[in-house]
Amino acid sequence: MVWHTVPRAVQLLFPRRIWRRVPSENRICLTFDDGPVPGATDYVLNELARRGQKATFFMVGDNIQKHTSLAREVMAAGHRVGNHTFNHRNGWKTPNADYLQNIRAFDEVLGERLGIQTDLYRPPYGLMKSSQAKVVLESKKIVMWNVLSGDYDQSISSPRILEESKRNTVSGSIVLFHDQQKTQEVLPKILPEFLDFLIERRLETALL
Ligand SMILES: [Zn+2]
Repeated sequence: MVWHTVPRAVQLLFPRRIWRRVPSENRICLTFDDGPVPGATDYVLNELARRGQKATFFMVGDNIQKHTSLAREVMAAGHRVGNHTFNHRNGWKTPNADYLQNIRAFDEVLGERLGIQTDLYRPPYGLMKSSQAKVVLESKKIVMWNVLSGDYDQSISSPRILEESKRNTVSGSIVLFHDQQKTQEVLPKILPEFLDFLIERRLETALL
């Protein structure tokens, strides 16, 4: 079972991490983690473009290195890029020096390949130690989410993923999807309908 929403108590434990935007004018933030991956990211870009919607992509540095042109397409389409480490590191299992180095390695490849920097960071698996967060917060915002689509969880049916994602998304939500190999097949079953739902509800997609 996944948490489709993040309990308020957990959010309060980490008040300096961003869990939701201040609700304003019916806006939400769409976020896609783990790309860029051919077959997933290009699909997402196309669906967003068809509806004029915007998203923030928390990329993995290794994937930017392997699929640089796709990463450039994300940027060229006016979406935002955030840091999700170079090798998708789990902060709880990684010594601080290695972890922080992996975040810097992401920034380096982003600068080299795309010529940009980002002040957005999302820890892989949502896990990082407070001692790591303290250093990251000196230069970046830590962006979590409050609606977990569950798109990567193969034990949940796609109608259920869609229904739960719609039910939990309200003004101010930060919604998490993944553009990676594991979600490549499920995305076409959930994303178009979810994006249409946002339009029906007049929920605009804002960048972080
Ligand atoms: Zn991830």
